Order: sequence, then structure tokens, then C-alpha cells
Amino acid sequence: MTPPTRTVMWFRRDLRLADNPALLDACAADGVLPLYVLDPALWDPAGPSRRGYLAASLRSLDAAFRQRQTRLSVLRGDPVRQVLRAARAVRAERVHVAADFGPYGSRRDRAVAEALAEHDIELVRTGSPYAVAPGRVRNGSGDPYKVYTPFSKAWSEHGWRDPVEAPTGVGWLGPEDLAQGPQGVEGVEIPDPALPEGLTLPEAGERAARSRWQEYLDEGLADYRDHRDRPDLDATSHMSVHLKWGEIHPRTMLADLRDRGGPGTATYRKELAWREFYADVLHHRPETAREYLRPEFAAMEYDEPGAALTAWQEGRTGYPVVDAGMRQLRATGWMHNRVRMIVASFLVKDLHVEWQHGARHFMHWLVDGDLASNQHGWQWVAGSGTDASPYFRVFNPTTQGRKFDPDGVYVRRWLPELADLGPDVDPHEPGDVPGYPAPIIDHATERREALARLEKIKQ
Ligand SMILES: Cc1cc2nc3c(=O)[nH]c(=O)nc-3n(C[C@H](O)[C@H](O)[C@H](O)COP(=O)(O)OP(=O)(O)OC[C@H]3O[C@@H](n4cnc5c(N)ncnc54)[C@H](O)[C@@H]3O)c2cc1C
Repeated sequence: MTPPTRTVMWFRRDLRLADNPALLDACAADGVLPLYVLDPALWDPAGPSRRGYLAASLRSLDAAFRQRQTRLSVLRGDPVRQVLRAARAVRAERVHVAADFGPYGSRRDRAVAEALAEHDIELVRTGSPYAVAPGRVRNGSGDPYKVYTPFSKAWSEHGWRDPVEAPTGVGWLGPEDLAQGPQGVEGVEIPDPALPEGLTLPEAGERAARSRWQEYLDEGLADYRDHRDRPDLDATSHMSVHLKWGEIHPRTMLADLRDRGGPGTATYRKELAWREFYADVLHHRPETAREYLRPEFAAMEYDEPGAALTAWQEGRTGYPVVDAGMRQLRATGWMHNRVRMIVASFLVKDLHVEWQHGARHFMHWLVDGDLASNQHGWQWVAGSGTDASPYFRVFNPTTQGRKFDPDGVYVRRWLPELADLGPDVDPHEPGDVPGYPAPIIDHATERREALARLEKIKQ
């Protein structure tokens, strides 16, 4: 008789049971240990939104395992050591993961695979957080795409597999199995970090992701194409946070979109393709997490970040749509895409502060903070990214506000100082309002300054 086989399912950015190919692979064994490792390299620098959301999502995953009469085992420390400890403690032959293509994650996984291999334990990578794994979509010459439109066409033609069901009939191993035997390991509790006052996060977990998605399919998608740029209507799906933590897989969403059709579907697919494109770009050019994708922009003259950066971070620039966005970010860990573009442009082109400062602030507060989408979203606005929005096209925060928040509903929602403006006051150029700052810069002047600095690097 062959001895029973055992595996570890190491969860990272795939905090779900359904449509999780790595989990299905792990579950081919007789005993499966669901494991999460709190990695100080990721936890310590994380802001309150990320910590709070991750902890809630882990609790939700743990609750799903409790329904299956087991628990999620949680360890804290360097994954190279902790994953090996867990695998040895339960005498696993394989550790299963969804492949990570980010700069840190791929380095970490190589180190974990080596450490496991020394003990004849295999790290098995199945699937990824994307419909098509980064690196797969190539042009006719076998090179990666550098711009979005041909990538998205080739991505669509490449296609992806259908979703898979959650595993059933599994012999789960829990914390007591982990703690048993001569090499037993004690797990830790899922942390419960306190949120700063005024920050409210969306509901976390696979069930919340599914129900939000279903609700959006039924009630939001039809208007997505026409309303997605309107922060006042809040007409986008808010699925970014669920995708970020893998509480739902994009191919589940793509399958639902295919089955549904109708207005909004094609536009929504295109947005998911942006997420896949940026992951692909970062995979091929990992240094662009910090450095300019177009190196010529490194020569641009920027100002030292000082009081202007602080005013921007705190939502006190005197430009209502910028301030509303920055306060929405701190209050909810999320900001509308159109407003992300406006505030990013304001920091880089009106305040002349390098994009990395803004990207860092976003990563600190965003609940959906994702290195690929964030850094490349910033580089796009800064003019140094893929498909660069031409640098000379500088968003005017006042006219952008009037166009995309025509009645000022969005700015009034996030700026209590402007909530009671009279009907004859333009909420995007309110003038003197008690308690609300006057504009910290003159947009027309700073636009000219930005263009002058651009001219210098072009010469
Ligand atoms: C400066 C800047 C920083 C950004 N930082 C992030 C980030 O850290 N994490 C993040 O997920 N998105 C980021 N984005 C992209 C976009 O703003 C968010 O994905 C979107 O606002 C999330 O809200 P939603 O889920 O309601 O979007 P929806 O409009 O409902 O879009 C559906 C999904 O498509 C994807 N998507 C949409 N637009 C983009 C885009 N421009 N780039 C990549 N994916 C996209 C997201 O996964 C999103 O959930 C950034 C954009 C900019 C301009």
C-alpha cells in the first residue's frame, strides 16, 4: 500500500477556494494544509488599509475553512524558513502556489523553491492572478508588447481556460497537524490591526467579492461604458480590491462577461486587459517599479517635495476635485480612476513633484494598491510610461471637475467645507469659502512651467 500523500497550499494573492487551480492541484493529495505566511517584508511597510483589509480577508478565508471543519494555519516570518518548516512539520511532498510575477514575489519564490528542494520538497506553481500569465503574450517576433492596444488584441486572441470549481472531499490538515510531531510548528493568530479614525474599508473575502460582482453584473454593467468616468455617479465596479487579493479570479469574471454580453461588457473587458498588460510590462521590466520606463524623463527637472506634497496628501490644495479625491483615498482606501488621473497629473505637472512620491502615498493608502497597476498608472500620467499620455496634455483640474462632476456632487460628498455652497457658486472654483484653502498654485502658470521643463529634456 502506498503511504498517503500530503501537500501544503500556500495562499498569497489568491485568498479564495473557487476557481483556484493551484488549490485544486494541491487537493489531489490525501492531506492538504492551507497555509498563509505573514511576511514582515510585506507586512511591516504596509499602510493601514492594506493591513486591515488583508487581515479581514484572512479571517474570511479562515471562516470558509472552519465550515470545512478545519482552519487556515498562519505563520509569521521569512517565507523561506516558514514554508519549509510547515512543509516538514506535516511531511508534505509538495507545496502548491499560484505563480507570482512581481519583482519581490518571483525572487522570494525562487528562494523558497531552493530551500524546499534541499529537503526533496517541490514548489509547484499552477496558474497566476491573471487570465493570461505575464510573459505569455508575445508579438510575431516573440517580443513582449510595449503598447496596450496590440497587447489587448493578442491577449484576447490568446484566450484562457474556463473557471474551475472549488475542491470537495478534501482531507484538510489544520493547526493541530502542523503542531504535531518532532518538527511541530505553532501557528499564530490572524492579526487584528486597529484602523485609524475616519478610515472605513470595504467588506473583504471571497463571498463579498462574489456578491459585489453579481450585484454589479445585474445593476451596474449596463451603464459602465457611459458612466465609468463620472466619480459623482460612482458607476464602476469596485472589484479592484477583490482582484488584488485574489478573492475572485479574473477569468471567472471574464466567463461571466462572455455569458452575459450587452452594453458595458466590451469596455469592462478592456479594463481587465489593462491590469493584465501592466503586469506583463512589470514582469519584463521589473526596474520600472521605481525607475522611468522612458529613461529620458529622469533628466526632467523636478521640485523637492515639501509643503506642496503635504497639502496634496491631505487634500488641501484648493482645487476641489483634487482634494475630494485625496480625502476619498484616506477615508475609504479607494479613489475613482478619473480622479486618480487628475490628482496624479496635479502632483507631477502642477506641483512638479516626481511620480514616485505620489505612487508611494497611493500604495500606503490604497486598499487595491497593486505595484504593476499603480506604478504604471503613475508613469502613464507622468508621460514616462507605456502608451504615454503626451506630457504636454496637462489636465486642468477645474475643467476636469466641471466635466466629470458637473453638479459638484462628488466634491461636496468629500469636502464638508463645500457641502453648503449656494446654487450660484461653481463648486469647482468656489472662491473664498471659510475653512477651505485658496488654490496653492495657479494652474495656468504651472502648466507653462511644466511645458518649459519638458522642452529642456527634448533638446
Ligand atoms: C495613478 C493611478 C494609480 C492606480 N493604481 C492602481 C492600483 O494600485 N491598483 C489597481 O488595481 N488599479 C490602479 N489604477 C487603475 C484604476 O484606477 C483602478 O483599477 C480602478 O479605479 C479600480 O476601481 P474599479 O474596480 O471600480 O474599476 P472598474 O472601472 O470597475 O474596472 C474594472 C477592473 O479593471 C481593472 N482596471 C481598470 N482600469 C485600470 C487601469 N487603468 N489599470 C489597470 N487596471 C485597471 C481593475 O482591475 C478594475 O477593478 C490606478 C490608476 C491610476 C491612474
